[in-house]
Amino acid sequence: MAGPEIEHLMQMLARLPGLGPRSARRAALYLIKRRESALEPLATALALVAERVRPCPRCGNFDTASPCSLCADPRRDDAVICVVEDVDDLWALERTRAFSGRYHVLGGLLSALDGIGPEDLHLPRLLERAAQPAVQEVILALPATIEGQTTAHYIADRLKAAETPEHPLRISGLAHGVPVGGELDYLDDGTLSQALRARRPV
Ligand code: ZN
Repeated sequence: MAGPEIEHLMQMLARLPGLGPRSARRAALYLIKRRESALEPLATALALVAERVRPCPRCGNFDTASPCSLCADPRRDDAVICVVEDVDDLWALERTRAFSGRYHVLGGLLSALDGIGPEDLHLPRLLERAAQPAVQEVILALPATIEGQTTAHYIADRLKAAETPEHPLRISGLAHGVPVGGELDYLDDGTLSQALRARRPV
């Protein structure tokens, strides 16, 4: 139907989340028709991101700076670390402007079904960070799914086991408002910031 280059572009687009073969064909044609206004700016943006964006060695956020701008920002509160499943949840929380502490991206959730164990998540770095004297609270902002809650309990246990009398830690989870089975990224900003403000101890 189309040449191999266009065919390849459509196959690459069809692999993107939310796109199937049909929308990939439409997107490819859209780009090809709009070389200057869409295709070339997109190619430039992709090349820049591929070249410059890396995961932050401290929190796991994506940024061009290392450590990322959130870790480097001196106005943010070192006393609170908010643990999230992935970067889209970090973005969702940042959009609410309800949180001004630091983040930690786990990079997934424990799942017996998918064979994801503690060693597959960014846990050692979290335990290291939580042991720093400045840290007073860890918020487990994980989804209200079985995997999310299993992961939250596992992390809470590990944090409590590492706690010392000289350095007690408050461990909390998001409050109601997070629907059961709910992913953070799908919540509206008001619901998410309310769930964060009304967080409860784990
Ligand atoms: Zn960071």
